Amino acid sequence: MNAPQAIHAAEPSFRQSVEMMFSRAAALMNLSPGLEEKIRVCNATYIVRFGVRLRGGIRTFTGYRAVHSEHMEPAKGGIRYALSVDQDEVEALAALMTYKCALVEAPFGGAKGGLCIDPREWTEEELERITRRFAYELIKRDLINPSQNVPAPDMGTSEREMAWIADQYRRMATTDINARACVTGKPLTQGGIAGRTEATGRGIQYALREFFRHPDDAAAAGLVGDLSGKRVIVQGLGNVGYHAAKFLSEQDGARIVAVVEHDGAILDPDGVDIEALKTHLAACGGVRGYAQGTFRADAMSALEEPCDILIPAALEGAIHAGNAHRIRANLIVEAANGPITAAADEQLRDRGVVIIPDLYANAGGVTVSYFEWVKNLSHIRFGRMERRREEARHQLLVDELDRLGGGAPGEGLSAGFRQNYLRGATELELVRSGLDDTMRESYQAMREVWRSRDDVPDLRTAAYLVAIDRVAESYRAMGL
Ligand code: GLU
Repeated sequence: MNAPQAIHAAEPSFRQSVEMMFSRAAALMNLSPGLEEKIRVCNATYIVRFGVRLRGGIRTFTGYRAVHSEHMEPAKGGIRYALSVDQDEVEALAALMTYKCALVEAPFGGAKGGLCIDPREWTEEELERITRRFAYELIKRDLINPSQNVPAPDMGTSEREMAWIADQYRRMATTDINARACVTGKPLTQGGIAGRTEATGRGIQYALREFFRHPDDAAAAGLVGDLSGKRVIVQGLGNVGYHAAKFLSEQDGARIVAVVEHDGAILDPDGVDIEALKTHLAACGGVRGYAQGTFRADAMSALEEPCDILIPAALEGAIHAGNAHRIRANLIVEAANGPITAAADEQLRDRGVVIIPDLYANAGGVTVSYFEWVKNLSHIRFGRMERRREEARHQLLVDELDRLGGGAPGEGLSAGFRQNYLRGATELELVRSGLDDTMRESYQAMREVWRSRDDVPDLRTAAYLVAIDRVAESYRAMGL
């Protein structure tokens, strides 16, 4: 996304920002002396510099794996490939993983890794060599391990990198029957789970649906009804932003009035066609030149356009002390990790803007990672496996009936027939319903605290309270 503009010069770092949010909530709790600090600090950060022979020379890369908490093991969190990666960033992200997992009751500690690299500078073959070497460094120190530390995709990585990591682990731990559980977000053929790629975006959709099920909460953001017709601005059309925008516009009737990307923004009051824009982005590397809507070179200013819901789904610090006062949305959903700095958070809260916090909003990814990890460890398939083959056969039949009936695909069959025909507890259905339950229950836990305590000013503080309480309970039970 937009080059690491992020944190405003005069503001604390990302890690400090997360710690400030933590401390605000911890101040409202009765934690025993020392326990607050134990929970807040990052347990350990491993920094590795390794060389890879590339393009006729040796190139040195710097990688990180931060373990924020081990109150539950394995510690969980993605691996990011970006030039913004440094110790401060991975530690902030690892802390967010601890609280996120606690909030959605995924039984993990928090971790995060990263490589300071621009993945676009390297070919696929080069990236594979770099990734395998980085994985080797982490595996030999148990920083990738099914029972101790389980990475997943994050910005700049995808199922492709996870497959390389899983294979590297398998080669190094040949007798580990649980080898597949060493990383999540793998391709389906390598022990992945259906619905993991879309999971974070799907979680945003479920989070918003749950939000609008509480008319009081919607009213706090000056909104009524449901998602239908709501004007949405999305920053970042990567994996998370793309799926969120796609599902909200295709399935909930929301209108994506602007998409903000690294080289500019596309604005369209009638609603941006997300599929078409994503295709353009994939082909051209940016949104410039997209035929519909209006292109604006000053991308970030588009965040300040009027809308009902703003969804920052890119880097941390997109909304900071320098632009928070110009944001016109009354509801912000943090699809990215840490997109609002602590200073901006305060300004927005004072103005009555409702923020659905990252801890909760983007927890769909790790929730489905948990399902994948359990599936790998259980060595039992999720749902009816034959469905995939069946569905392919059924789709052929459906297409054939459509062809005989003429008209557009699907027209030849009644909706009810299609529904019944394609019915069954597939892995994808199980994953989606499990994710939906998780997003509903976590929202309710967070909301209950927000609504029932006068000293809790917003959903973020409520989310931290629920999360810290659970982590503290787990440390207490351990006898710390
Ligand atoms: N990278 C994702 C996150 O920030 C997913 C982490 C995971 O699945 O472990 O939540």
